[in-house]
Amino acid sequence: MQINVSQLLKEPIGSSRNYEASEIVDVTSDDSGRKVQGEVRLLRTHRGILVKGELQTEVELTCSRCLSLFHYPVTINFEEEYIPTIDVVSGAPLSSPEESSSFIIDEHHVIDLTEAVRQYTLLTLPMKPLCREDCAGLCQESGHNLSQGPCDCPPQVRDPRWSEISKLL
Ligand SMILES: [Zn+2]
Ligand SMILES: [Zn+2]
Repeated sequence: MQINVSQLLKEPIGSSRNYEASEIVDVTSDDSGRKVQGEVRLLRTHRGILVKGELQTEVELTCSRCLSLFHYPVTINFEEEYIPTIDVVSGAPLSSPEESSSFIIDEHHVIDLTEAVRQYTLLTLPMKPLCREDCAGLCQESGHNLSQGPCDCPPQVRDPRWSEISKLL
């Protein structure tokens, strides 16, 4: 997700651009690219370019209960200031920003949003992903995926607590 900002860098502070983004990005650094789309707004600031992104994508997660893969839609909202490394007019190198984690505009005056998209996507992912809220998980005896229907285990094996209760009754 690269945007050339050489023109915007030459404009006065407060100048802005809007982009419709729609690109394939390797969001989770696993393998497959995912489509990322949405709005990107660039604002010329005193130090560089402020990027505001409102983007949608989708990742593949493993359900923490039934272990099946499922598609998880992600919406990310981010705001990051990108700092130039080279003066756009003179071509002279600029002193690198204090914080090493800063997002930078490279020597060709290009902003690459891939890293921001990756980082913000990771932040939105759930600790314990569920394929659906009421995922029934796996049978502890047979390993059958109970979201796809009941297994063949006898009821007392399926959940010993029930047999305790039926004794009481
Ligand atoms: Zn599940
Ligand atoms: Zn079972």
